[in-house]
Amino acid sequence: YTQDGKRIVTLIPGDGIGPEISKSVVEIFEAQGVPVVWESVDVYPILKDGKTTIPEDSLISINKNKVALKGPLATPIGKGHVSMNLTLRRTFDLFANVRPCKSIVGYKTPFDDVDTVLIRENTEGEYSGIEHVVVEGVVQSIKLITEEASRRCATYAFEYARAIGRGRVTVVHKANIQKLADGLFLSVAQEVAKDYPDIKLDDVLLDRVCLQIVQDPTKGWNNTVMVMPNLYGDILSDLCAGLIGGLGLTPSGNIGQKASIFESVHGTAPDIAGKDLANPTALLLSAVMMLRHIKMDAHADNIQRAVLKTIAEGKARTGDLGGKATNSAFTKEVIANLSKQ
Ligand code: NAD
Repeated sequence: YTQDGKRIVTLIPGDGIGPEISKSVVEIFEAQGVPVVWESVDVYPILKDGKTTIPEDSLISINKNKVALKGPLATPIGKGHVSMNLTLRRTFDLFANVRPCKSIVGYKTPFDDVDTVLIRENTEGEYSGIEHVVVEGVVQSIKLITEEASRRCATYAFEYARAIGRGRVTVVHKANIQKLADGLFLSVAQEVAKDYPDIKLDDVLLDRVCLQIVQDPTKGWNNTVMVMPNLYGDILSDLCAGLIGGLGLTPSGNIGQKASIFESVHGTAPDIAGKDLANPTALLLSAVMMLRHIKMDAHADNIQRAVLKTIAEGKARTGDLGGKATNSAFTKEVIANLSKQ
């Protein structure tokens, strides 16, 4: 905190459209009077002793502030670098990835009332990076599931369900096939459930969710928090994002032991970078998630309402939503809608 009680938050503007959409968030926070002070740092890959890491000042800033808002980062093509997202996950032990997908009024998709919340285990599973050649033509890739990582992910799912007022957690798994691995993930969640008598626990097979959610995402998926191993979450969250349409719309939060980093799901959009054409909504909604995380709910609610109202009104939509507005014009309209509430 600053001396006058404002919360210091790390801002990673990022690459491509990152600085433009970050500027939009900063302006809207200022107009709303959010008591947050940004500490802006650049994150790019540095090779240290053969390992990919991030610059010292960004490491210090995130460790100190514990909360960061991050624009998209370009993953440099070439050997030797691990993706920046993987590096951040490992550096700050970001164990759960929260991805809500809620229909945006005024942006028509096949279903009007999608409101899914998915939590993906973020550190192990199929992403543990343990692969080897057994003999030529035979490779083995290890899906690592530990009780510890499963427990902290499941615990977070219950806490999150409680925080957003959902009375149910659903474990998505394939324990019928991956009997030991997914079996452990499931049984740990069942144990954790005993500490949350106010929240119901159920479970469902991954293939069944995929089928049911694309048939009708409102039938039973709007009042639960889904939690699952890494790869299933990666795939199912994109499926859910597809249901609300548009990469400019989906926020996410990476929750960790040492820090939490909130970011849009989309990338750096090099095709429209520097042209003031990007839709800042995904980063704005990520910033809204961040505000709820630091218990500034009233500011979060107000900004979210203004963003959604601006899209619903339709007069200042960006190109990805079929409109002609620039990022700046959209931002201005959101600010105007803040004061009208
Ligand atoms: P992308 O998400 O950057 O772009 C895909 C398409 O969606 C483009 O046509 C783009 O113009 C559009 N788009 C994305 N965000 C938008 C927005 N806010 N408003 C309007 N249109 C938007 O995906 P890509 O082209 O595959 O990746 C580009 C770069 O981003 C790569 O270097 C990749 O590694 C990186 N990337 C980073 C992250 C991250 O940091 N979280 C995530 C994905 C990709």
